[in-house]
Amino acid sequence: MEITEIAVEGYERVARCRDEATDLHALIAVHDTTLGPALGGLRMWPYASEDEALFDVLRLSKGMTYKSAIAETGLGGGKSVIIGDPKRDKSEALFEAMGRFVEDFGGEYITAEDMNIGISDLECVRRGTRWVTGLSRESGSSGNPSPYTALGCVIGLKAVLEAACGSESFEGRKVVIQGAGAVGGRLAVMLKEKGAEVVICDIDTERTEQLHNDHGFEHVDDEDHLDVECDVYAPCARGAGINDETVDRLRCKAVAGAANNQCLEPRHAESLRQRGILYAPDFVLNAGGIINVSVELLEGGYDEARALGRIDRIYPNLKRVFEISRSEQIPTNEAAFRLAEERLAAGR
Ligand code: NAD
Repeated sequence: MEITEIAVEGYERVARCRDEATDLHALIAVHDTTLGPALGGLRMWPYASEDEALFDVLRLSKGMTYKSAIAETGLGGGKSVIIGDPKRDKSEALFEAMGRFVEDFGGEYITAEDMNIGISDLECVRRGTRWVTGLSRESGSSGNPSPYTALGCVIGLKAVLEAACGSESFEGRKVVIQGAGAVGGRLAVMLKEKGAEVVICDIDTERTEQLHNDHGFEHVDDEDHLDVECDVYAPCARGAGINDETVDRLRCKAVAGAANNQCLEPRHAESLRQRGILYAPDFVLNAGGIINVSVELLEGGYDEARALGRIDRIYPNLKRVFEISRSEQIPTNEAAFRLAEERLAAGR
C-alpha cells in the first residue's frame, strides 16, 4: 500500500492511497480539525479521473467543516472517496485496505456512510481501523442517519414557516418534495402527520406509486414539479437544482430541503433572496444525520435521547441565520457561512 501526500492550500491533510493487491485508489481530505476530529462519509463513485475525485473530496470535506461548526457537533470536516464502480469493484479486501488508509490518519479523520456505501461495506472498513461511525444499532453504533436527517428538516421547517408564512404551524401548508427517497419519503410522512398537504415528485415511479398507495400523496412529474404553487419547495434528491433555468420558475415562499449543495452557485441564493423566497441553507437544515452520528463519539457512546436534544438545535441555528441575513441584507447561505466562521474563530 502506498500513501502519498497531496499539498492543497487551506486543507490540513489530503492524501492518496494506491494499493495494488486490492486495486484500491482512494483519497482522504481533512479540511479543518479546529473544533474536533474530521468526520465525513466515504463515497464510492466511478470518477473519470483522479482530478475529478479530488475536486469532489475537497468540496465535500470543506462543506462538512461548516455543517459541523453550525451544528456544534464538536467535530471538524473531512471526507473520503474511492474511485471505482460500486456495482463492479466492491470487495471485502478493498474496504479492509480502505480501513488501513483511514487508520493512517490516527483518528484525525473518522469515516461514515455516504453515496454507494452501506453498513456492510463499513463493517469491512472497521477491520482495518476503529475510526468508523454509522455502523448498525445492534453493534452499539448510531445506525442509519436518514430518519434523523428527516427529523432535523421537520424541526428546521418550523423556523422556515415562521419566517416565511408568519406561523410555525404545518396545518394546511403545502410542501412539494422533490426526491421521495430515504430522507424525502420519511419527511413526507412526518409532514403529513403534522397536517401539511404534501406533493411528492420522484423519477422512481414505483416509489411514488407506493407512497401514493400507502399514504395518499399526490404526485407530480419531475418536469412539472417546479410549477406547483406551494409554501415550501423541499429539494431532497440531488444538488444543483436551483440554477439559472429553475430559479425564476419557482412558485414557493421558501426553499428548504435535505439535498446537499442545492444552489448551483452562491449567486443563486441571492437570486432567491431577490425574488423574496426564503432559502434555508442545506448544510444547516440537513444536519440531523451528522448530529446523530456525532453522539457516538461522546463519552458514554450513542444515546438516542441525547441525539434528539441536539437535533432540536437546528431550529435556533436557522433562526439565527435568518436574523443575520435580515439585519445584514445578505443571502441566507452567506449568513450561514458567517455563523460557521464565527464558531470556528471562537474554537481557535
Ligand atoms: P436517496 O437516494 O434515498 O433518495 C433520493 C431520491 O431522489 C430517490 O428516490 C431518487 O429516485 C430521487 N431522485 C433522483 N433524481 C431525481 C430527480 N431529478 N427528480 C426527482 N427525484 C429524483 O437519498 P437520501 O439519502 O434520501 O438523500 C437525499 C439527499 O439528501 C441527497 O442529496 C443527500 O446528499 C442529502 N442528504 C442526505 C442525508 C442522509 O442522512 N441520508 C444527510 C444529509 C444530506
